[in-house]
Amino acid sequence: MRRETDRIFGQDHPSISLHLLREKGNASALIDDNKLFRQWFARADFFKHLDELPLGLSLEPTDDPTLLTYRNKTILNFGTNNYLGSTHLPEVRQAAKDAIDKFGVGSTASRLAGGTQQLHLKVEAEMSRIFKRAGTILFNTGYLANFVMLTVLGQSGYCVFIDEECHASIYEGSQRSEAKQYRFRHNNVDQLKALLIKRGAPDGRNIVCVDGLYSMSGSVAPLNDIAKLRDVAPFLLLVDEAHSFGTLGANGLGVADMLDCLHTVDVITGTFSKSIGSIGGFSVFKDPTLELVRFAAPSYMYTAALPPPTLGGVLAALDRVIVRGDDLRAALHGNCKRLSELLNGSIEPEYAMPGPVFLLRLRTAADALEAWRYAMEQGFYLNLVLPPASPRGIPMLRMGVSAAHSSGQIEQLCDLLRFIMRRYPAGY
Ligand code: PMP
Repeated sequence: MRRETDRIFGQDHPSISLHLLREKGNASALIDDNKLFRQWFARADFFKHLDELPLGLSLEPTDDPTLLTYRNKTILNFGTNNYLGSTHLPEVRQAAKDAIDKFGVGSTASRLAGGTQQLHLKVEAEMSRIFKRAGTILFNTGYLANFVMLTVLGQSGYCVFIDEECHASIYEGSQRSEAKQYRFRHNNVDQLKALLIKRGAPDGRNIVCVDGLYSMSGSVAPLNDIAKLRDVAPFLLLVDEAHSFGTLGANGLGVADMLDCLHTVDVITGTFSKSIGSIGGFSVFKDPTLELVRFAAPSYMYTAALPPPTLGGVLAALDRVIVRGDDLRAALHGNCKRLSELLNGSIEPEYAMPGPVFLLRLRTAADALEAWRYAMEQGFYLNLVLPPASPRGIPMLRMGVSAAHSSGQIEQLCDLLRFIMRRYPAGY
């Protein structure tokens, strides 16, 4: 039987194929040998009604950051991390084009082997200036920023304490390090305290890792309470502000800025792939010794540096959306307030979502998939988050709000969510 995508796009349409998952005859020996392939192969039945994996759809961007096209149909994008609409800001686009015209499209070398250009140094200096910190290291992604910092800092004799909802890059970095790793329940300061007392390194070689704004629950870390635990045991505090940089805080620097406790944070990591609208990661730190991380991590030393158009765009975005971005943050918060009234009003305060990340938790994965498909049919792209990626294994729909969304678009989303909430039982 011809696939729907084949009919619309022809056989050559490069969608992420479900053929392998669906047609058991295609199973190769690799599936028997590889545990992860086996798990996905076993999911075939769950996705059998779909033409494409929802986790790998090809959605085309348009000239409007809130709109996508999918199979020639316009879709409203609420599965976004483009919180300030930076991808499409005229000054950001122009700066990327100017950088191409002046310096070409690629760096073609690692930072330590001839790949460092003035633009890298300018972005690093600007980040240190904005955060009033001793130093900044740029990375190719936010993932690498966390991964590299933890593999280098987590030396033998160290203990790393990680909130259970921290990003995978923090887990992977600490797992690949020589440190011992302990996980504490999400935002549970009492449990972290107990762990620090019981398991903390006696000489204070402890690292506590949290996200500022959690990407999968939309909640915020109680940074002041966490910082106070230094009375119990000393530790280095690393905060991943990937989703909060640009969106929260009086200066748009994130949750530590919002809670007025930036001075208590030793290392701030984050990404340029969300509010900054581009790609790249950063680690901003108090202690200038951390510059040495550059020479200690193969995953920094042996990979090509970010290219000029990315850096040109990032520099322009730092100026427009961080330094001069209060208007965009006001627009974003106006949009968030509307959705917050609808969603936060119907859940326990412990699940509150104070930033631009919103969730609807549903009872079963089948309900979540059906609701997600319904949203797609109605012209809305939302993120479908299924176990094991969803916190506490609760299936959910995730929404990201942007300053670029109009109030009319937010109202349309509210109507859709009201319908879904009436039709499917909540998963809280
Ligand atoms: N930290 C958090 C909390 C994230 O959500 C993400 C990306 N989703 C990252 C780090 C990684 O950022 P990047 O996409 O730039 O690798």
